[in-house]
Amino acid sequence: MKIFAPKETDPDETRAALDPVGTKKLSTLGVTVIIESGLGDSSGHRDEDYREAGAEISSERNASLADADIIVRVRKPPADEIAKLKKGAIHISFLDPFNESSLIEAFAKADATAISLEMLPRTTLAQKMDALSSQANLAGYASVILAASRMKTILPMMMTPAGTISPAKFFILGIGVAGLQAIATAKRLGARVTAFDVRPEALEQAESLGAKALRIDLGETKSEGGYAKEMTPEQIKIQIEAQAKVCAQSDVVITTAKVFGRKPPVLIKKDVVAQMQNGSLIIDLAAEGGGNVEGVVAGEEVTTDKGVTLIGLTNYEGLVPQNATQVYSSNITNMVEHFLDEESKTFPIDLEDELLKGCVITHGGKIVHDRFTS
Ligand code: NAD
Repeated sequence: MKIFAPKETDPDETRAALDPVGTKKLSTLGVTVIIESGLGDSSGHRDEDYREAGAEISSERNASLADADIIVRVRKPPADEIAKLKKGAIHISFLDPFNESSLIEAFAKADATAISLEMLPRTTLAQKMDALSSQANLAGYASVILAASRMKTILPMMMTPAGTISPAKFFILGIGVAGLQAIATAKRLGARVTAFDVRPEALEQAESLGAKALRIDLGETKSEGGYAKEMTPEQIKIQIEAQAKVCAQSDVVITTAKVFGRKPPVLIKKDVVAQMQNGSLIIDLAAEGGGNVEGVVAGEEVTTDKGVTLIGLTNYEGLVPQNATQVYSSNITNMVEHFLDEESKTFPIDLEDELLKGCVITHGGKIVHDRFTS
């Protein structure tokens, strides 16, 4: 079985789907690993490192795409590369399937098996392959480090003979994997942290990390499979009003609120941004999907005339590409190892398998995932 890792085509993408450690693990399992020359240029790995780990280095991207049994990458492929895949090839990456219907159709047409890592069920068994979590964890960390490097103040309280410096105030909105890591990182750096999530259990987790939980009575806030359900417009209105004061008093607001399969809710409106102090920062980790903050622009940084900077980067984990690649590569190799048939050295697609049923979008020339069939 041949696994090919092509270079990412997005010029801003610094991560790679495989690192040398993952390459070595796959080679040990009896899988042939081919990487495109330059794969690890941005994440700190030379072709030589991959070669030593057992990979073949390819400078013939199209030929390698056409020859591979499994293609692994971080981001969704360019549409024109899907038709180049071998019939029956397995493609593993993030695919953003809720917004990429034509890409999904292209996979079906090419008779390729598309595995969307976003759709992998968040079960205990799947934790080792959970790339959403591995990347969100680093994104949460990197967002706080970015904030710290951009602030005009320090984070901790400092009592000096020249006077006392107050701790910076952070507000973390959305306490999933990224939000929890952002809280932990900001606390470690000495900031005073307030946090909010619609899931009550997340508020308790925030408190266990030393944050103050903002409690807002929104009535019923059901979650499904651990994910928050979409709030009603009335609930969103109550939330926006109740958190406005905390936003206005914060030096840094980091938003991470997402609702699985839907556009992120807009939770901070322009009038609230306008109340924030000159020099304060908003970092919107949901910017790529539309953002939690009115006025944020994906991939850009905007400063309002009141001096509030809105950062809408779309790849915070890409700020720490070596670790992001390390854990992503580990997710991929764990997945291949988990499903590898030892004897035939193949990756059989059993659609009755609980995990594959959750994340295989196309197979056998058809869209097979029930969320995308109708
Ligand atoms: P996510 O990225 O989908 O969303 C981030 C957070 O936004 C979530 O905590 C969500 O509740 C919150 N949110 C949604 N609407 C909001 C609103 N209006 N206001 C404030 N916050 C709002 O979440 P995630 O980090 O992918 O985690 C999703 C769930 O999966 C969590 O319950 C997490 O604990 C769980 N999880 C389980 C496992 C596992 O058991 N293997 C692994 C990872 C995550």
